[in-house]
Amino acid sequence: MVDLQTQYEFIKDQVDSSVLDIFKNGTFINGPSVKDFQNQLEKYLNVNHVIPCANGTDALQIALMSLDLQPGDEIITSDFTFAATVEVIALLKLKPVLVDIDEDTFNINCNEISKAITSKTKAIIPVHLFGQVANMDQVMKIAESNNLFVIEDNAQAIGAVYNTGKKTGTIGHLGTTSFFPSKNLGCYGDGGAIFTDNDELAHTIRGIVNHGMYKRYHHDVVGVNSRLDSVQAAVLKAKLPLLDFYNERRKEAALLYSKQFIDNKNLLVPIVKESCQSHVFHQYTLRVVNGKRDELSKYLNDNNIPHGIYYPIPLHMQKAYADKRYDKDDFKVSIMMSKQVISLPMHSELSNDQINFISEKVNGFFRAQDS
Ligand SMILES: *Cc1c(COP(=O)(O)O)cnc(C)c1O
Repeated sequence: MVDLQTQYEFIKDQVDSSVLDIFKNGTFINGPSVKDFQNQLEKYLNVNHVIPCANGTDALQIALMSLDLQPGDEIITSDFTFAATVEVIALLKLKPVLVDIDEDTFNINCNEISKAITSKTKAIIPVHLFGQVANMDQVMKIAESNNLFVIEDNAQAIGAVYNTGKKTGTIGHLGTTSFFPSKNLGCYGDGGAIFTDNDELAHTIRGIVNHGMYKRYHHDVVGVNSRLDSVQAAVLKAKLPLLDFYNERRKEAALLYSKQFIDNKNLLVPIVKESCQSHVFHQYTLRVVNGKRDELSKYLNDNNIPHGIYYPIPLHMQKAYADKRYDKDDFKVSIMMSKQVISLPMHSELSNDQINFISEKVNGFFRAQDS
């Protein structure tokens, strides 16, 4: 699905020397590379505060912890996302309220958000799924009129630009991301960050990531230990200047895939809303509309073509998050998507030949079906 070895070959000199510097200097934790990367990312995102942390799941948890919520407070998020988004809500004894998605974008359906709001609702977590920006105009409007916080789960969309010119993750009150190796900006292990323009929230979060300490050995709030280590920061420092280039390559790859599938009536290609800027193709996700998704998956397996099914089971149907208040009629779109979606290899190193080869195999599968 990704080709991190080829990507490394191009940045090897820079990565190797900055990582070796850390080994020589012994600054493994909170070394200068962490601060440098933080500053660099603040500039890139045009946001006042970036607080690095250990991974994208922690970033979400810490963002929620900073909001002074009470057990039972309700957090609205998408039924169709990676489990991390809902996991942290449940872990903090808050109440996840899952809602259905838009058919065109796989992102949270704003009409459903409005319907789900109660007096206990405190926050909305839109996820920019597969790299495409959620309808943030609407989300922010709903949040404002109901006095809710917005935390953008930007793990899949770093570098995407919304129609307002703002980068994703900086539109809501808080944004979070993951630097997991396969993400659009990935390190060589685990990493994550929280973004905000709000000075007060930033201060709170800086304490939470460090055991709730604002002064050494004074623990004012219950915190966690969540750090981006210096080696990962050094890798990210080398890669951030290339992020726009990497995202452009992903968009080009997506355009070429979609061109190859133009005559394939069994497939729906990703719909890109507004400008292409707002989709950075963390995944290239097709919808198989003739009911043969699982057969296509098996065929691709037999032909050694990597692919993924994100996500095969909507969250409201997962054992851990099931709840009798959920009615399957309220999740028609996420249920349909879980049966239709299939994601093809997508990364900045894909060659046109590889894309043509993969799409030819996919088209060949349907030709054999149709004949
Ligand atoms: C990857 C991902 C996360 C979690 O990131 P980790 O760094 O793996 O903890 C959270 N939300 C979404 C949407 C993701 O894709």
